[in-house]
Amino acid sequence: MGQKILVVEDNELNLKLFCDLLRAHGYAAEPVRDGREALARARDFGPELIVMDIQMPHISGLELIEQLKADAELKPIPIMAVTAYAAKGDEERIRDAGAEGYVSKPISVLKFVEAVRALLDAAAARAAEAPETEEAAAPEGEAAPELPAGEDAGEGEAPPDPI
Ligand code: MN
Repeated sequence: MGQKILVVEDNELNLKLFCDLLRAHGYAAEPVRDGREALARARDFGPELIVMDIQMPHISGLELIEQLKADAELKPIPIMAVTAYAAKGDEERIRDAGAEGYVSKPISVLKFVEAVRALLDAAAARAAEAPETEEAAAPEGEAAPELPAGEDAGEGEAPPDPI
């Protein structure tokens, strides 16, 4: 099975479009129509990525991004926001809330899939870089230093060749 992607989107047509598109590219897409279920579904499904609509009834995607990023368990999952309103400052607000990626509607199929792949690749690179700290017995209460947000994986500053 492909990597798991949770798709939170109230619009039925967009939800189907996103899920069909992701499945066509080998991902396991899980639709969520009601934003109020997003956190619980994310916990159950354990996605590698969350695609998040911003304009939704009951609760906005922006609010959900903040809630996801405030949750220790869900925080590491990259979020790609999708929004129809690309007013000036929108992208900044979405990124400030903690989303790692941003795509505006109507989506370009190619850009959508590329953005998904880029976020998954970046997350995988981060996971590969981060030493396994679980059994490394870090001093109590001393959290591992966090990488600066938005840092590109890879580029520049390659470690010297060991030999
Ligand atoms: Mn919507």
